[in-house]
Amino acid sequence: MAAPRPSPLPLGALHASHGGCWLRDSDGRTRGLGKGEAIMASADTPLLMLNAPLVATRLGYPDLSGLDLLELFAFVHPARFCVPTPKGLATALGLAPPASDDAVPELLQHAAGKLLETCESSNWAEREGAWSALQSLSRLRWPWAQVIAPHIKQPPRAERWLFTRLPEWEEAPDRPQPGQIVLDPEAIDARLAFLTGAGAEQRPGQQAYAREAGHTFAPRQQPGLPHVLLAQAGTGTGKTLGYLAPASLWAEQSGGTIWVSTYTKNLQRQLRRESRRVWPDTSTEGSVASGNRQRVVVRKGRENYLCLLNLEDALQGGFSGRPAIMAQLIARWAAYTQDGDMIGGDLPGWLGTLFRQRGIKALTDQRGECVYAGCPHYRKCFIERSARASAQADLVIANHALVMVNAARGRDHAQRPTRIVFDEGHHVFEAADSTFSAALTGSETIELRRWVIGPERGSKGRRRGLAARLADVSSYDEQGAKAIAAAREAAEALPADGWLQRLHDEAPSGPLETLLGAVRSLTYARDESGGQEAGYGIETEAAQLDGNFVELAGQAQAALAELRHPLMKLSNRLEALLEEPPDWLDGLGRARIEGARHSLGWRIDLIAAWEALLDRLGGPVDPDFVDWLAVDRSEAREYDTGIHRRWLDPMKPFARVVLEPSHGVMLTSATLTDRSGHEDDDWETAIARSGAAHIDVAPRLCMAESPFDYSNQAEVLIVTDVKRGDIPALAGAYARLIEAAEGGVLGLFTAIRRLRAVYGRIADHLARAGLPLYAQHVDPIDTGTLVDIFRDDPHASLLGTDALRDGVDVPGHSLRCVVMEQVPWPKPGILHRARRAMNGGSSYDDRIIRARLAQGFGRLIRSREDRGHFVVLSAAFPSRLLTAFPKGTPVIRLTLDEALQRIASSVSLDRTTEPETPDTQDAGNKG
Ligand code: SF4
Repeated sequence: MAAPRPSPLPLGALHASHGGCWLRDSDGRTRGLGKGEAIMASADTPLLMLNAPLVATRLGYPDLSGLDLLELFAFVHPARFCVPTPKGLATALGLAPPASDDAVPELLQHAAGKLLETCESSNWAEREGAWSALQSLSRLRWPWAQVIAPHIKQPPRAERWLFTRLPEWEEAPDRPQPGQIVLDPEAIDARLAFLTGAGAEQRPGQQAYAREAGHTFAPRQQPGLPHVLLAQAGTGTGKTLGYLAPASLWAEQSGGTIWVSTYTKNLQRQLRRESRRVWPDTSTEGSVASGNRQRVVVRKGRENYLCLLNLEDALQGGFSGRPAIMAQLIARWAAYTQDGDMIGGDLPGWLGTLFRQRGIKALTDQRGECVYAGCPHYRKCFIERSARASAQADLVIANHALVMVNAARGRDHAQRPTRIVFDEGHHVFEAADSTFSAALTGSETIELRRWVIGPERGSKGRRRGLAARLADVSSYDEQGAKAIAAAREAAEALPADGWLQRLHDEAPSGPLETLLGAVRSLTYARDESGGQEAGYGIETEAAQLDGNFVELAGQAQAALAELRHPLMKLSNRLEALLEEPPDWLDGLGRARIEGARHSLGWRIDLIAAWEALLDRLGGPVDPDFVDWLAVDRSEAREYDTGIHRRWLDPMKPFARVVLEPSHGVMLTSATLTDRSGHEDDDWETAIARSGAAHIDVAPRLCMAESPFDYSNQAEVLIVTDVKRGDIPALAGAYARLIEAAEGGVLGLFTAIRRLRAVYGRIADHLARAGLPLYAQHVDPIDTGTLVDIFRDDPHASLLGTDALRDGVDVPGHSLRCVVMEQVPWPKPGILHRARRAMNGGSSYDDRIIRARLAQGFGRLIRSREDRGHFVVLSAAFPSRLLTAFPKGTPVIRLTLDEALQRIASSVSLDRTTEPETPDTQDAGNKG
């Protein structure tokens, strides 16, 4: 129940949606007004508003400013979840949600009043640090500072600074190697029964699946031959608890660590929740501070975490203007965060878009410039803490890319995963594809230059080059100093600031830029993809290169070797220092040098991979690889240029780097196999895409069918009268489908251009009917937040591309219709063409499309209570692709009008028999 309403803050409040604009003045009168008047009103006096960038987009006036309630929320309740909509804000503050758009300005006044009341309350959980932060924010002229200053009392004693408040991590001895144990199937059943809870319905499919998963953790018999299990688990099987049951049992009995790897952040969140059933006594929260061993650790790539040294620099003048305000709000968050994860953790996804997403990135360690033990915050560093905690954990929740990178170049053997469950296993191929790729591009090479040389000509910030990072080594070791100087000189050959413009002006500087200039002009000369006219990226295969191009590649290769040699020499000097340490080298110094050696090592590997790539150009084709030249563009603006190399089959390096050293690996997903219609073939692709064949392992196979009644819960509607390429007709179809379903539509597109065109034509019209429409690539909101908004409002609809196809888990009424704009054909790029030729031509395309259809369909029915329609707008949908949908799902070809009738009548039926929306938090058997 909503709490009594707090006194409203007597300031004007503005709300703008696609349906119109409303202003409430300080005297409590609300009126509708035009966009021009709304802009004028906001220029006259600071108005309360919610999500200023979104209001600015709605008004078509990017310079809009005001008192953004989201900024105030981030200050008062850092690290607390809030869906950034009027309803979401009301829910987060315990207020009644507004009944209509015109009630929103009043809500904003009450919400502001409530937040100020909190500041005065003795129960304000996040009070510590607020007064000091406010002093800094006042100096930065944060618009809220004056408003809230009278409500926050100066504390009697000086508040501790963030960097003194954060807890330190403790060193812990290495864990012994895990015991070799075989799990008892009955013990697995019992654990599963415990996890699903007393009274939960028995699911024989889940039980069999859990027992199969248990085999993954058995002792292996030969080196290099892990147990490999491929387990398909239809939606609703309960696969998460199905594998957590044997995994937790194994961790408990053997004393080892299980890694569960996911592709989407969504599943990471779900796993975090569900792991609490297994380890209820220790959550992931707060346990570091308390000094207890963390049993469950979420581990991400270092570029996800806040770097405290970067934050300190930003707070001390590295950032100015709006980014400096953002840094203060992030410092508030840093004191209350669970784990310092800025991307998908408890930092609100919307905070970056209120300021600048780049500002968030600048606070992470994107470039690997960490100075490890040389950093004053090393003992409090979130990254170091998470790495150490994962070595001691029972369960590490990670993502595919991190698991692969860790296996390939992890800093510490003890932290390398050996028992791994790849959930969302159908994405392992994609993740391996990008992990084991090489790209010699302008943006990659300039990063390397900055890493070696450090700041040049007027760049700000704490960024330091190799010489500064290893100053003590060079003062002690003459040869090390020489190697650093030689590396610095050689790095001058790499692209420098302004390289894109110089390429455009055909005035490159240095051997690498000269090569990239040749790449650019050859790509423009040869590309026939149609991307040139459409403003997209363009590419051409790295074939038939003339003598001049090959010579330029040779010069670039020689320049890279010039850089690699001194880096190798330096690495050897560091190794010698560690072997015969001087007196001054204490434990922390040692850790810092080990860290430096590690980052040197992977840059040496990176340069070697680039050299190998260049060495091949003009020579015989290597059948293992596909090489191509590309100019990356967005809306005709170039942002990168370079040469790319991918493995034709990335599961080859995956097998060597990840499978071979492991003892047990499980790949599981609801869409692991291909539903080709010939059951014998279904596993063929899954086996090939597991990499097991490359190490001569025959994987175990397991299939758990979904318990859902698809014949009654879903319908596939293939709409045959919307012409392909007819944007007005496409937009009209989307609008009518959303109206018929009364919102709750997820629209999936294969091209951003069409998505934007459709959105632009229908958003206003739908908003006036009370059906808000959101879109990826249009709304200034990150994807995770868009999904939160969509989940929160059953009348909202969401349009998006690939990331939404299987990154959305919205059970219940909020998602009742998925609409695909056309058959999701693969993009016919150079890489696709090569893989298609190797894998059976059109049948390869079919497999990709079936997988995409199955993933899109999988968004629709997430629980037994869900019902819905999956619509494909395609006049000529090939029948051979229909097997993509689960057995028994009715498939109907029909006109748009007929589809609208079916959807509308099912919505009115649902209205009369509407079940309670299941609580995702408690849907323990979902998966
Ligand atoms: S140890 Fe490295 S990542 Fe951590 S705060 Fe210091 S510089 Fe940043």
